Amino acid sequence: MKQKLAELDWQNLGFQYRDLPYRYEAKFKDGKWQQGNLVEDATIKLSEAAEILHYGQEIFEGLKAYRREDGKINLFRPEQNAHRFTLSAERLAMPPFPEDRFVEAVKEVVRANEEFVPPYDSGATLYLRPFMVGTSNVLGVTAADEYLFRIFAVPVGAYIKGLNPAAYLVSDYDRAAYNGTGQAKTSGNYASSLLPSVEAHQHGFADCLYLDPREHKYVDEFGGANFFGITQEGQFVTPQSKSILVSITKRSLLELAERMGLNPVERQITLEEAFTMKEAGAMGTAAVISPVGSITYQGVKHVIYSEDQTGPITTKLYHELVDIQYGNKPGPAGWVQTLE
Ligand SMILES: *Cc1c(COP(=O)(O)O)cnc(C)c1O
Repeated sequence: MKQKLAELDWQNLGFQYRDLPYRYEAKFKDGKWQQGNLVEDATIKLSEAAEILHYGQEIFEGLKAYRREDGKINLFRPEQNAHRFTLSAERLAMPPFPEDRFVEAVKEVVRANEEFVPPYDSGATLYLRPFMVGTSNVLGVTAADEYLFRIFAVPVGAYIKGLNPAAYLVSDYDRAAYNGTGQAKTSGNYASSLLPSVEAHQHGFADCLYLDPREHKYVDEFGGANFFGITQEGQFVTPQSKSILVSITKRSLLELAERMGLNPVERQITLEEAFTMKEAGAMGTAAVISPVGSITYQGVKHVIYSEDQTGPITTKLYHELVDIQYGNKPGPAGWVQTLE
């Protein structure tokens, strides 16, 4: 059923699927991407032997459209999502979708669903989910030769409301192998994180923190967000690892931290060192910046900064980033695209 505009409560949207009027669709057939277009049907018809249903050839992206105070709409670094989508496609043996067409299609979907971009003061945004799946029939394990690319949009509330510190559990499971698909944004990494996150929720944790899968010694990332810490010396540090998805939010915060004099660095961070951080947080498009209140490992809780208050550096980074995304402050050149 199509979502009715009048039935939306902008203050309490949550993070759930809604069927908006339009989505973009393009197909790959006969060795090339066909012309794409907006469609109304939220469903996809697939063969029972479609590659995606058996061998998991899927990649996706997540980005947001922000309603500015002047009523216009901003996109935040969409070309970065387009480029990461190319890298994910290459890792999954899929045909890359042209990056300029990716950005154009994102804009088409935002414009077509414009009335569903939440108002400025709600703190809510329009979340865009581009994805690609292998659709041709396979029985033997092989890459598909036909693909479907789609982008749908959903209005979402602030994923984690306000800057409330959350409790995280260091997982005994791995989400991605050392030379696996951790650097690709692909469903398989999420499939392996489902049981760990269900179990973490059952024990009252917001999510899991994963360690590097080779030595289980270094911090990798959360299920769907990267990790950062502020050392006792006041340095912004974030893990460098072959098995994490490099977040665009993280890339952006590395630059903002530089401007703020936090001397940012990407390097390996042992779990032991993470416990000593002055402040820590999760960063990603959905999470924005979410403070880490505590990290529990082998039954022992390590409080970082505070379980009910957010540290000053985390708070400052959050406002720097969000103000740029909404167009309240100018960011580095090219970060924000305002739709005409
Ligand atoms: C999408 C994602 C992130 C966050 O990346 P952003 O580009 O900042 O949205 C972090 N980790 C994983 C595993 C992800 O899938």
